[in-house]
Amino acid sequence: MKDEWAVEFWRLAGVLLFGIALALISGFTTASLLIALGIYIAWNMQQLQRINNWLAKGSRRSQLPEVHGPWNNLVKEIFFTRSKLHKRSRRLSQVLKRFRRSSAVLPDATIILTESGKIDWFNPAAQNLIGLKKPQDVHQNIRNLIRHPTFQTYLNHAHYERGQEVNIPSPEHPSITLNIRITPFGRNELLLSARDVTSMQKIQDVRRDFVANVSHELRTPLTVITGYTETLGDENLPDDIQIGISAISQQAKRMTQIVEDLLMLSSLEMETSEAQTEREIVQVPLMLESMCEDATLLSGDAKHHVHLDVQSSSCLLGNQSDIVSAFRNLIDNAICHTPPGSTILIRWDTVNGGACFSVQDNGLGIDEKHIPRLTERFYRVDKGRSRDMGGTGLGLSIAKHAIQRNGGELTITSQRGKGSTFKCTFPAERVYKPELEQPGLEAQA
Ligand code: ADP
Repeated sequence: MKDEWAVEFWRLAGVLLFGIALALISGFTTASLLIALGIYIAWNMQQLQRINNWLAKGSRRSQLPEVHGPWNNLVKEIFFTRSKLHKRSRRLSQVLKRFRRSSAVLPDATIILTESGKIDWFNPAAQNLIGLKKPQDVHQNIRNLIRHPTFQTYLNHAHYERGQEVNIPSPEHPSITLNIRITPFGRNELLLSARDVTSMQKIQDVRRDFVANVSHELRTPLTVITGYTETLGDENLPDDIQIGISAISQQAKRMTQIVEDLLMLSSLEMETSEAQTEREIVQVPLMLESMCEDATLLSGDAKHHVHLDVQSSSCLLGNQSDIVSAFRNLIDNAICHTPPGSTILIRWDTVNGGACFSVQDNGLGIDEKHIPRLTERFYRVDKGRSRDMGGTGLGLSIAKHAIQRNGGELTITSQRGKGSTFKCTFPAERVYKPELEQPGLEAQA
């Protein structure tokens, strides 16, 4: 490169020397220098013209123009940049073709939306599953094409920000259940994917209905057994019969509790998703005061030290009975699964605009390996102990479902020998601040 410029410098110097020589011979200095520079400019113009012609004809390698000096470097640079761009665009078009071919055979509907919900692109499965039509539906707002209220709420509340999904019937074939998930990507774009989950939904419905029906059917015989064992209890009966009757009564009560918990779980599963859960104002600070008193009563002779730390007057927007049942389960667990005299701290606070309820104890703690499975149905760290305490193994499962249905999340942290913390966090949109009263909402204590 440097060499090219040196040659060019000497070329210009030669031209000037020629001009000076011409001036000395002719005696016309300005005219001679102008002639020399004119020749130099004309030569450069010719180089430029050759490059221009070459570019106009498609800048092919086989037709490289015959140019010199820095013009030659320029031609080489243009050629390499162009061929690099060409290769890249060829690769991109291949990727695009492959993407089109693979998205065409995808069984899931895929739709690219703008931030406001306008359709940019969709694959053939979106035509079959959702009934979108090309080209009429391109640039239409998805809200006008999928009108199911659950989907509308999902989109309006931007629930997808937290990786949530919704199940709705297909607008094209109502017998098909679609699982829809929206993922933000790129610059304010949204990727909507919809899967046919009809068969999975059917299996879940059958399982849920079966559990709900069996639980319901067991309710009546259990009520009869409990009622009769209560009337059978008589101090005059022989000891072994009294022990038998008391065991029957105890087990019947335990079964009744399991049935009630199973019914509660299936109703939590059956009743709509988070997006559809009704929102009433739940006065959490007031509610916690009474829960705290109940916890002290439940502890009885075990004399747990129950402390309440309410850091915020905020309330929750959600379903009152869900929230009561979740919080009560966590507090009761802290009493039932910690040794007598343990300290239990119940906290209510706001964090980053959201709200946080936590129950912390200094009990025996839970081994790390059990933590991910604690919210599974009937999972207990110590089965025998849990049964002795009257536990069903369904409490945490109920709490998790109830919290999720109200937009929150349950996290469990524990250290063996140090204690456990059960934390429920709720997003800002679920927090109601009484000082900023919103019309149309009624408070529930
Ligand atoms: P259970 O009816 O047995 O209380 P849960 O689903 O409520 O069922 O809890 C599951 C298991 O988690 C319990 O059996 C217990 O082993 C463990 N657990 C729950 N809370 C605590 C706690 N605060 N401290 C220690 N273990 C706990």
